Amino acid sequence: MAANAPGLVYLVGAGPGDPGLLTLAGRDALARADVVIYDRLAHPSLLNHCRSDAERLFVGKQSARHFVKQEDTNALMAERSQAGKTVVRLKGGDPFVFGRGGEEAEYLRERGVPFVIVPGVTSAIAAPAYAGIPVTHRDASSSFAVITGHERDDGRESGAREPGAAEQRRRWDRIAWAADTLVFLMGVEALSEITARLIENGRGPDTPVALVQWGTWPKQRTVTGTLETIVDVGNAAGITAPAVTVIGDVVRWRERLRWFDTGPLFGKRVLVTRAREQASALSERLRYLGADAIEFPTIRIAPPDDGYAALDTVLGNNLTPRPPLPWGEREKISPPSPLLPKERGDRYLEALSPAQAADHSPPSPSEGEGTGVRSPYHWVVFTSANGVGHVFERLTVLGRDARAFGGVKVAAIGPATAMALRERGIVADFTPTEFVAEAVAAQFPEPVAGLRILIPRAAEARETLPETWRAAGAIVDAVPAYQTVLETEGAELVRETLAKGEIDIITFTSSSTVRNFVAAMEGTAVPSSTLLAVIGPITAQTCRELIHEPDCKADAYTIDGLIEALIGCYAEASSSDDNGNSPRHGDRA
Ligand code: SAH
Repeated sequence: MAANAPGLVYLVGAGPGDPGLLTLAGRDALARADVVIYDRLAHPSLLNHCRSDAERLFVGKQSARHFVKQEDTNALMAERSQAGKTVVRLKGGDPFVFGRGGEEAEYLRERGVPFVIVPGVTSAIAAPAYAGIPVTHRDASSSFAVITGHERDDGRESGAREPGAAEQRRRWDRIAWAADTLVFLMGVEALSEITARLIENGRGPDTPVALVQWGTWPKQRTVTGTLETIVDVGNAAGITAPAVTVIGDVVRWRERLRWFDTGPLFGKRVLVTRAREQASALSERLRYLGADAIEFPTIRIAPPDDGYAALDTVLGNNLTPRPPLPWGEREKISPPSPLLPKERGDRYLEALSPAQAADHSPPSPSEGEGTGVRSPYHWVVFTSANGVGHVFERLTVLGRDARAFGGVKVAAIGPATAMALRERGIVADFTPTEFVAEAVAAQFPEPVAGLRILIPRAAEARETLPETWRAAGAIVDAVPAYQTVLETEGAELVRETLAKGEIDIITFTSSSTVRNFVAAMEGTAVPSSTLLAVIGPITAQTCRELIHEPDCKADAYTIDGLIEALIGCYAEASSSDDNGNSPRHGDRA
C-alpha cells in the first residue's frame, strides 16, 4: 500500500463496565475510530459510540475457546494504524492499571505509531464504590494500595499456575502494610495464598474482606467475610474472575452505604426492542434502576428500493424551482413550465404506479402566480420524523435547502414530525389533532379536490390517506422516502439467550416491535419465566395474539408508565420469592 501517514492509536480506558463510566475523551475517540479493538471487560454498548461503519474486532478470551494473544493484539493495532486508520484499543478500567497499557504503548512507540492515552475509571476504586465500600474514609483508612494478585500476569485474568520465581520473591511483609486498605486485582485464584500471607505478616485474621465480582455491571455480586473466612465464603458463592478483593475496615461501610445492588430491577436482564434511534431513553432509565438493558433493535431504517430515484426527482425538479431566473428570462418560461423535465420525468413516472402516472398532467399554477416561480404541488404532507429526515438528507445531496418548500404548504401528521420540520426551519401549516389517516383527511384545512399533494413517506405505509384524497379528487404522489426493514443483526445471540432463560423481561413499545421480534426469533419460544411488558392496549393485543398475555401493562402511553409497571410487577414477583431476591444475583454473603 502507498505510504499512508500512520493513523492515531487511542489506548482508551473503558471503565469497569457500567457504560456511563466512560470518559468524554473516550467517547470522542470512539466516535472518530475507523477500527475498535475490544475485549470482554468493555461493555458492549460502548460500541454504540462508534460510527456504524467502524470495524469492530473482539480480542477477548472467549469462554472455553482460545483468545487472541497479546502479541497479535499489538500487531493488529500497529497494522491498522499503518494503513492510515484511526484505532481505538478499549481496555477495561484504566489502561495503565494492570492493563498492559504500558507495554502496548511501548510497542507502538518502537514502530513509530503515534498514540494517545485516555485514562479510565479503574475497577480498583469503582467496583468497591458500587458495592458501597469507600476505599478511604476519615474514620477507617487514610490510604489504599492497588496490588496485583499474582506477579507475572500472562494476559489471562485467572488460571491456576504454580507460583513462579517472581511470585516467590514477593515482599509480603511490605505488601501487608502497604496501606490501610488493600485492593487486589486478579486475586481470586490466589486468594488463599494472599490471605495466608497477610495474616502471617500481622494483619488480623478478623480484618474485613469483600469480593466484588463484575463490579458496576448488572451482574455484580458481592460477598463479605474476614481474612480467615473469605476463601470459604468466596468458594461457596462461586465467585470467579473478574473480581476485586478489598481488605480493610472500610468494608464494614457496605452495610450502610450499599446502594447499587438494592434497586428494584437490579440484575434483571431486559430486552429493549425499539429501533436503535429510540431505544436509548428507555435503556438508560432501566440501567439507572440496576437492570441490564440489552438493545435489540428489531427494525432498521433503510433507503427505499429505488435508491431515492423518485424522491430525488420530485425534490430536484418539482418543488419551488431554482435558481431564480433573470427578469427577462421569466417571460419565456411562463406560461407553465412542464411538470417534469422530459428525461427525468420519465424516470420518475416509472417509479409511480400506472394509475399515479396517468394523473400527471401539467400542473395548475399554485404559488407565485405571475412571477414565473411555480410549484406543481399545493401541499407536501410529512407523515413521520423519519420522512422529514430523509427528505432533508436528499435535499442536501441535491445541493438544495429548506427554500425548496418556499412555494408549497406543509403539513405534519404529528407533533414529532412537526418538531422535526421546525428544527429544519419550517413551521407546518397544518398539524391534525389526531394522528391517523382518517383524522388527517377529515381535519384538512381546505377541500382537496383539484389539489396536488406530495406525500414523502415509508415505502410500506398504508394507502388509506392517498386513497381517501384521490377519491375526493386530489392528485396525490406518494413517494417512498425510506423503508423499515427487519433488523437481523444480533438476533442469533438473542435467540440463544432467550432459549437459556436468561432474559428476564422483554419490553414492547409498539405492535411492530412485537411482530418483528416474533419474526426475528424464528420460532424460538419465549420461556414462561420471561416477563412481557407492553405500552398501550394495541401493543398488548398484538402481544396477546402473537406470544401470550402480557405480564406488565403500562397504562400511561409513556416510558415512565412502562418503568412503573415493571417495578410494580417485580414488587409482586419478589414478595413471593423465598429470600426476596433474584436467585441469580442475590448477595450470598
Ligand atoms: N485495567 C483494569 C484492570 C485490568 S486487570 C482496571 O483498571 O480496572 C483485570 C482485573 O481487573 C480482573 O482480574 C479483576 O480483578 C479486575 N476487574 C476488572 N473489571 C472488573 C470489574 N468490573 N469488577 C471487578 N473486578 C474487575
